[in-house]
Amino acid sequence: MFEHLPVPYGLARYGVAPDHPEVKKCTETLEDVARTSSCFNFVGNTQIGSGDNELPMHALVPYFDAVLFAYGASKDKKLAIPGEKLKGVLSARAFVGWYNGLPEHADLDPDLAAGDTAVVIGQGNVALDVTRILVSPLEELRKTDISEQALDALSRSTVNDVKVIGRRGPLQAPYTIRELRELMHLPGVGFKSPPESWDDLIGVERKRLPRQLKRIAELLEKGGQTPLEAASKAWQLGYLRSPAAFLSASNDRLEAVGFEQTEYVESAQDVLTGNPQEDLNALRALRVQPSGKKSLVHATHAFRSVGYLSEPLAGMSDIGVPFDRKLGIIPNDRWGRVMNPTEGPAGPLTAGHVPGMYCAGWVKRGPTGVIASTMDDAFITADIIAKDWEEGTKFIEGDGEKGGWDALKHEVERRGIRSVSWADWEKIDAEERRRGEAKGKVREKITRVNEMLRVLDG
Ligand SMILES: Cc1cc2nc3c(=O)[nH]c(=O)nc-3n(C[C@H](O)[C@H](O)[C@H](O)COP(=O)(O)OP(=O)(O)OC[C@H]3O[C@@H](n4cnc5c(N)ncnc54)[C@H](O)[C@@H]3O)c2cc1C
Repeated sequence: MFEHLPVPYGLARYGVAPDHPEVKKCTETLEDVARTSSCFNFVGNTQIGSGDNELPMHALVPYFDAVLFAYGASKDKKLAIPGEKLKGVLSARAFVGWYNGLPEHADLDPDLAAGDTAVVIGQGNVALDVTRILVSPLEELRKTDISEQALDALSRSTVNDVKVIGRRGPLQAPYTIRELRELMHLPGVGFKSPPESWDDLIGVERKRLPRQLKRIAELLEKGGQTPLEAASKAWQLGYLRSPAAFLSASNDRLEAVGFEQTEYVESAQDVLTGNPQEDLNALRALRVQPSGKKSLVHATHAFRSVGYLSEPLAGMSDIGVPFDRKLGIIPNDRWGRVMNPTEGPAGPLTAGHVPGMYCAGWVKRGPTGVIASTMDDAFITADIIAKDWEEGTKFIEGDGEKGGWDALKHEVERRGIRSVSWADWEKIDAEERRRGEAKGKVREKITRVNEMLRVLDG
């Protein structure tokens, strides 16, 4: 398992919010494998790529019978609207990485004391994570593995009003009920209803809604547990607004976000058939179009939370692995076999499995889905590799034993890459737990790669 950081676990460590420790328990499965399997090697601090100190794909492939791409989605989608570079406009991915101690974003310094109102653009669970971190009482976060810089900045934060704004309506937003409920129940945090009435926004009598959507509607209408008058911070959901520009009179720091308002293309009532599954699908899929109206929301901070993005790895095409930039995935047959689309007389044709190449996770399906669905999907790919092997399917060309990591190790050393083993990671892990214990936290993550490596030298 090649990993560009000296530490394993990807988004389970650097994406999942610090106040969701139970979700991170999935890491125990890999821990068991690493401790008990004689044929598993963790090769950390080893980026697969074409830069200095990176391991090129073509150097790795000859040592293996199969390669499984599971490198996730390490970029985020941009809005491509004016003002995205203003101070105070942040990517949710960078903010999440920062509070979770991801080295890439250790220096983000979001200056949360620069104003009081934040707008989060997008209404998925990542948007709700960002909101929860901004409004949660600090004592709730102190015990978690949130980074020290984040705790420090949050303790000085003056942000007390967070507006989470989406392009569509309350029943189309991608958030899940669990995450919504969690925010509604946060102590000392109030929930402001949107400016429009719930009846107008939902557009259907509650008793006609399918069960899941009825529960969401009821939760939203009931609102937060803390009355606004008693709340020190508040959050709000805003609907039917598409961001048009980040605005600033000084052209320096964000002052407002301009929105184009949207409206439903068809009425929610008209798509109902009385069949709960069909109604659920139709209401979730309800489309919107620009209404011609504009609105402005005062904001000192804005978080862009409109999705993650996968990109091809350097050198992937040299070994015959394609990438679909439109879908942001490696083309595959849904079982995880990498498929090579080639041009036929009538356009792209799926020509067949690229021998020995497989994919799993977000780079296989696109950047959606929780850990449970990502794990299910990984098990499917693993099963298909085993099945292909048993059935004598063609794998990566080459005679006899490939040598695997034991043989490749010398090549990695020759290239001056300092790889990190599972035993090394366990030392970093122990040091993080030790530093955390001293502060009453689960762990204090080390946020610099050099410092992680120094722990190994010490
Ligand atoms: C902010 C956020 C919060 C989330 N919260 C939850 C939650 O509460 N509950 C839940 O169930 N799910 C949650 N998820 C979803 C969950 O994290 C994903 O389903 C899952 O982590 C995707 O797994 P993956 O293996 O595809 O990608 P990742 O977890 O991203 O793993 C990819 C790994 O590949 C490494 N890598 C990338 N490029 C290279 C390279 N060139 N060379 C070597 N290594 C490389 C990366 O460093 C990373 O470790 C959340 C996701 C996000 C973004």
